[in-house]
Amino acid sequence: MIVRVGHLYPEYLNIYADRGNIAVFTRRAAARGHELRVDPVTLDTPLEPGSHDLLYVGGGQDREQAMIAPDLAARGDAIRVAVAGGTALLAVCGGYQLLGRGYRGRDGSWLEGAALFPHETLAGETRMIGDVLLESALDEAPGRTIAGFENHAGRTVLDPGAEPLGRVVAGYGNDGTSGFEGCRVGSAIGTYLHGPLLPRNPELADWLLCRALEHAGAPGELEPLSDELERLAHAVSAGRARSRGGR
Ligand code: GLN
Repeated sequence: MIVRVGHLYPEYLNIYADRGNIAVFTRRAAARGHELRVDPVTLDTPLEPGSHDLLYVGGGQDREQAMIAPDLAARGDAIRVAVAGGTALLAVCGGYQLLGRGYRGRDGSWLEGAALFPHETLAGETRMIGDVLLESALDEAPGRTIAGFENHAGRTVLDPGAEPLGRVVAGYGNDGTSGFEGCRVGSAIGTYLHGPLLPRNPELADWLLCRALEHAGAPGELEPLSDELERLAHAVSAGRARSRGGR
């Protein structure tokens, strides 16, 4: 099966090797006989809802976020319709912030968001940096952990009743106080976790790949891979996060 991926603003939002997440999707799909076709979606590129099985957007500095925010906000309807139609989505850090209702910068400027996720972000005085460990809230595997690296000034406040990606075991997460990290809407996942995220979280990669394949018309389980290196990378990352002692 061909999995159609829309990579939003690859030349603007790609810090901490976020592009590596695409490489993981490509390799894990190929290991099961599927092929990923990645379309770069940048300023003014048309985006037809449903024309992609998976949408991906990485993180970036405030400067780059300001460059793409109006274009992304204008795609809000298309992205919400796509996700409601079953398109999977992964958004990291700066991309995650701008898929909420918006981002208030330290200078007070407001970047309108695409309003897919029920949250808003306010940049704080200090940056929240370091290894992070979550207890995943994804229903399939209670208690499974997700490990990564965060570096953000933004404090993201979820609306009451919004679904987080997980509970913070170590690290700051969305805002350093709520104890939650990320947000989920259907098959769309937003998170502050860089690294890149997916090489050390193979289950999360497969969770998203499964939903992208369902949208592409190939429902069903993915045969498990050995994932020895991935589990080792996860264990090392989780160990570093735990050694931070909660913050
Ligand atoms: N510029 C945003 C912030 O500082 C996002 C940073 C990022 O993507 N790592 O919060």
